Formats: sequence, C-alpha cells, structure tokens
Amino acid sequence: MHVAPYDMPPWRPPSEAYSVLIRVTRGCPWNRCAFCAMYKDMKFQVKSLEEIERDLKVALQLYGPDVSTVFIGDSDSLVTKVNFMVEVLELVRRYFPHLTRITSYTRGRTLANRSKEDLKRLREAGLTRLHVGLETGDPWLLEYIHKGLTPHEMVEGGRKALEAGFQLSLYVLLGIGGENWWERHALGTAQVLNQISPHFIRFRTFIPVPSTLMHQRIEEEEFEPACPLTVLKETRLMLEDLECSSTLLSDHVSNYVSIEGRLPQERGKMLEDLDRIIAQLEAAPHLIKTLQDRHKRVNL
Ligand code: SF4
Repeated sequence: MHVAPYDMPPWRPPSEAYSVLIRVTRGCPWNRCAFCAMYKDMKFQVKSLEEIERDLKVALQLYGPDVSTVFIGDSDSLVTKVNFMVEVLELVRRYFPHLTRITSYTRGRTLANRSKEDLKRLREAGLTRLHVGLETGDPWLLEYIHKGLTPHEMVEGGRKALEAGFQLSLYVLLGIGGENWWERHALGTAQVLNQISPHFIRFRTFIPVPSTLMHQRIEEEEFEPACPLTVLKETRLMLEDLECSSTLLSDHVSNYVSIEGRLPQERGKMLEDLDRIIAQLEAAPHLIKTLQDRHKRVNL
C-alpha cells in the first residue's frame, strides 16, 4: 500500500497512546515556559483544512473507519478560530464516524479568553476532553516559570470548560518549587484544584531539560532542584489539602512513585501509602540516591 507523507504530532498524553493522532497546528503559540523544550525550535503554525484532510485520508487507510479515539496536536489547538476548529472536528468525525472521544491540549489562558458560547460550540462539534498544564497554582511560581497564566485565569478557564461539558485533565508539575518553594507550590496548587474540581489531576515530576531556562538556573545555582524526599513531602502536603472531587493519576515515567485514586474517597489510603514510602526513604537514605539516578535517566 502506498501511503502519503503523514504529519505526525510528536507529543501526546500517555492516555492517548492508542488514539489516532491528527495534527491541526504545529508547535506552541506560547512557547515560553521556563521548563519546556518541546517546541522550542518550531514556529507556531495553523495547518490548512486541505493538509488536515490529507492526513485524515492516510489515517483512514492505516487504521480503518472503526477508530474510537482521536488526539489533536499540537499544544493548543483551541487558539485557532472557532469556526475553523468546528470544521476540523466535523471533518474528523466524517472520516471516523464511530469516535467516542476527541481530545486536545489547550492552555488555561486560552480557555479563560474563550467565551462560554465558543466552548459550547466546540463541545457540540465533538471535542470531548481537554488536557491543560496548570503546573502550579502558586501565583509567584507561575510567573517564575513563565507559564503565562494566573491562578484566577486557570480557575475561570477550568470552570468554563466544565460548564461547556468537557472532561478536564489538569497537569501538576511536582518538584517545580525546588527545595525552597515546595510548600507554597503544594498549597497554591491544591487551592486552584479545589476551586475547579477537574475530572483528572495528572502528576508529572520536573526534570531539567537542557536548553531550558530552568536548566540554566540550576547550572547557575539560582534554583535548587527538589530531592525525591522533598517531592514526596510536597505531594503529601498537596494531597492533604485537596478537597476536590477528581481522579488523581501518576501516569508518567517521570514520577518517583505511583499515587493514584479517587478524591476524596481514597485520599486517606493515598496519604497512608505516601507516609509509608516517606518513612522507608528516611530510614534508608541510599534509596533516595537510587531514585535520583533513575530520574536522571528518564528521557523526555
Ligand atoms: S509547557 Fe505547554 S504551553 Fe508551555 S511552552 Fe511547553 S508546550 Fe507551550
């Protein structure tokens, strides 16, 4: 079978591992987060409907019409015009009529800037789930990592997305407060999550990536990375403060431990697990070094 070139989105959430990946934009329209190198050398572009349809034709040839989930790349497809995105979604559903989920990344500020009507139109056109990087809820840290987002915008955007009927996933970047600001990171993040109650809270752990500002700050000793024990204490403090109704997931290779469960029902059990692991590490400090070494080998 001859297959035309297919524009592959390089990044997608682990939960979309079995989805057909369709790229609607290339790169990140923000591209300034101090910890991120994902799209550093890529100029942000919105693809044409013709290009998108060409990829859909290839995907149909490869996977057949019975595909059930599609992930739309790259980092913020909701920044495109609503009419355009509605056309894209209709096109996707025409090629794959049996879809049960279409997912996209977006940013908290993009959601806050979108009207409720626009978000409803996107939802009605078939977009089902949104993944958004909150990283931290602490206002000072959000500025420090150049997230381009305030806690207020995240709460406003998150609530609007939920009202429009989206399933909402928020990412939390454990360790981004380092050794010095982990408490404010934990408490500020819990505060924002409590005001939104997203369907999913997904933990990732900070890994300094060469060529990023955070990496440079570490080299220059301006930022002290959190050791595994601090990250676990930070996670515990956050969890203790979480009062939202959400599913907590640690579905990423960067995490030191896998803490998962329903909130609030399973919070007690998760706290017990964390206490046990923290006590084990405190009793056997060589394990901290093992975790650190393993973490350094994670290739993002
Ligand atoms: S973390 Fe997301 S929003 Fe920030 S620069 Fe990277 S892709 Fe863009």
